[in-house]
Amino acid sequence: MPNQPLPQQVTVRKLVESGAKLSGFVADVRLPRVVEAVQQISAQVQADLQFGMDESNKMIIGVKIHGSVDLTCQRCLDPVTVQLKIATTLTVVAHDEEARSCIRSHEPIVLDEGLLNIDHMLEEEILLSLPVVALHPKVSTDEISLVEHEGIERRAARGLDNPFAVLKTLTTEGGQE
Ligand SMILES: [Zn+2]
Repeated sequence: MPNQPLPQQVTVRKLVESGAKLSGFVADVRLPRVVEAVQQISAQVQADLQFGMDESNKMIIGVKIHGSVDLTCQRCLDPVTVQLKIATTLTVVAHDEEARSCIRSHEPIVLDEGLLNIDHMLEEEILLSLPVVALHPKVSTDEISLVEHEGIERRAARGLDNPFAVLKTLTTEGGQE
């Protein structure tokens, strides 16, 4: 399947009328708020947008987003990769008032002059999906090595189990004899 960039802005009504589906990638530079919030976008953002109508004749946009970002692990400060797997349905509403009263299962989106800014919408969805605190999974290998590392340092601080400390003692004793 050919991979192409998604358009930045589309006229929603036309796409809804033709039941269009848009698929493609979005370059990092088009998602500045995401770039700012993460260490890096580690797998380019790909999205599918399916345009249609719901049972009450409201325009809806099915949105699927894939990719991955690196966040800072709050335990070890190394990067932790977070997969983006977002699937949601946006309901086009006329204005902010209607957006506030919209039922919760339908995420409202307000269009500007009938236009959807795809980049802004993707930024919103990605930022909403990011964990507040990023952590490596508990049983990851780096977590184990970190614990081991701390253990060695603690023992070393007390002069225990440190092969160099033993050597030093031997040398000193050798010098005294
Ligand atoms: Zn970590």
